[in-house]
Amino acid sequence: MSDCIFCKIINREIPATIVYEDDKVIAFNDISPAAPVHVLVIPKQHIDSVSQLNEENVRVLPDIYLAINKIAEKLGIKENGFRVIVNNGKDGGQVVYHLHFHLIGGKKLGSLIV
Ligand code: 5GP
Ligand code: ZN
Repeated sequence: MSDCIFCKIINREIPATIVYEDDKVIAFNDISPAAPVHVLVIPKQHIDSVSQLNEENVRVLPDIYLAINKIAEKLGIKENGFRVIVNNGKDGGQVVYHLHFHLIGGKKLGSLIV
């Protein structure tokens, strides 16, 4: 996806602070952090959103969650806990249409905003 900012981060066309990378997944600091730790964990394969998951591309989800655990460990938030948020679509508050998992922690988080 040539006009997707997260694909551009994957391709090193725009800069980001990358905190984790493997062959299927990449993770980088959110440009506008909501907490001391706020990392975006994304599949390297472009998928617009949760609602675009299908029988084939859904296989990336285990890789995402394994990466989340590794990153949480690396950043020292695994023991105390963290939150994973995925916004989907207009009403879900999704702004960037490349599937991403917000990994948020580093402090005691408040209750969910609805
Ligand atoms: P959404 O609202 O789509 O779930 O979240 C998009 C997230 O991407 C936001 O938290 C926003 O701060 C982050 N973001 C948007 N543009 C960039 C960028 O160019 N670089 C980085 N690192 N994060 C971005
Ligand atoms: Zn993309």
